[in-house]
Amino acid sequence: MKNKLLKKGILILLVLLAFIDLKAQNINAKKNTLTKVFNNLVNAYGNAKGKPALILIPKSHKQNYIAAYFSDTPNIKVDEKLFDICAQMGPDSLNALSIILSHELAHYYNDHNWCSDYAFAIRNTAIGKKIKEESKETKINHEREADNFGIYHCCLAGYHPFGIYKKLLDNIYSAYNLPERMDGYPAKKERDTICEQAQRRIATLYSEFLVGNKAIKIEDFELAINCFDDLTKYFPSRENYNNLGTAKTLWAIKLRPLEKMQAEDPNFFYPIMTDSNSRLKIVIERNLDEGAAQKMNELLNSARSDFEKAISLDHEYDVAYINLACVFDLMDNPEAAIGEIKKMPINKQNQEKAYRILGIAYYHTDNEKKSKEMFKKVSDVNNHN
Ligand SMILES: [Zn+2]
Repeated sequence: MKNKLLKKGILILLVLLAFIDLKAQNINAKKNTLTKVFNNLVNAYGNAKGKPALILIPKSHKQNYIAAYFSDTPNIKVDEKLFDICAQMGPDSLNALSIILSHELAHYYNDHNWCSDYAFAIRNTAIGKKIKEESKETKINHEREADNFGIYHCCLAGYHPFGIYKKLLDNIYSAYNLPERMDGYPAKKERDTICEQAQRRIATLYSEFLVGNKAIKIEDFELAINCFDDLTKYFPSRENYNNLGTAKTLWAIKLRPLEKMQAEDPNFFYPIMTDSNSRLKIVIERNLDEGAAQKMNELLNSARSDFEKAISLDHEYDVAYINLACVFDLMDNPEAAIGEIKKMPINKQNQEKAYRILGIAYYHTDNEKKSKEMFKKVSDVNNHN
């Protein structure tokens, strides 16, 4: 009898353990999904600040926020129940998660002290008091900024946030029983308006981003420059500065007379070029008149500042270093081009594009031996891949 009871006890224990394990697995799977979306967004922000910690709080832990950003650690916390609300949105579930995470990341990257977010966030207690100390106007400004940046970076990360934000807010308000109005916060209606405005603005800016990229491809550099110049006003990110500088440099390259080597040896294509083949061969006889020379110098000087700005935003942004090195070489300063590559983080110097610009720059310093060595490394890297 005693044995039987013991066996039964063990059986119950095993069932319980299995149940706990299943639950643990479940939250781990959710954490994996959340982390994937989070990392995609962090890449889209491409900010030197790195990323905050991401914590998924199990439903069993009672807490006062739904999703929040805290600057002290720093970390972003998401309630498991909020994850489930997003998961219930079917094909839009990842888009919904991206909206929430991108919004919180926007607070982090814009150096807001913390997320004063009433929509995804607070229910009461000490945190609520802290929020009340902030003026309503500051809150709305921070939220507007977080929505603008958040939605834009959702798009850059490949998600589709448009058209679901309001539904997501409705679902959150109803699942958490949040009142339409909370003391000291903007009402839900105001929040809806902020979202709508952000969506409209970002839809326009994102299409500008796409037009800018396409314009570079079809070599309409003036249009590309207008697009990225405008975008840097709203989103002064390393990518936008880099794209702006790229459009200017490619335009300058188009104006510049080609050296013999550039027409004959593909090694001499600047690694900034997106598609270089056909055009190079056509324009070999080009002469540089005074007006074109002036325009070229203006473009290169201006591109130089754009790439320097991109690097100042992220000291490890290898693309901008390589582009800046191309600009220096185009400005007949190959020593500075070599210097830029040497400034790159060591682990990023061993790449094809870095070797290629070094090969070109060493050639221009009359160091043909070193130049050949670099081009050899280009082909080694290519053969290795
Ligand atoms: Zn917020």
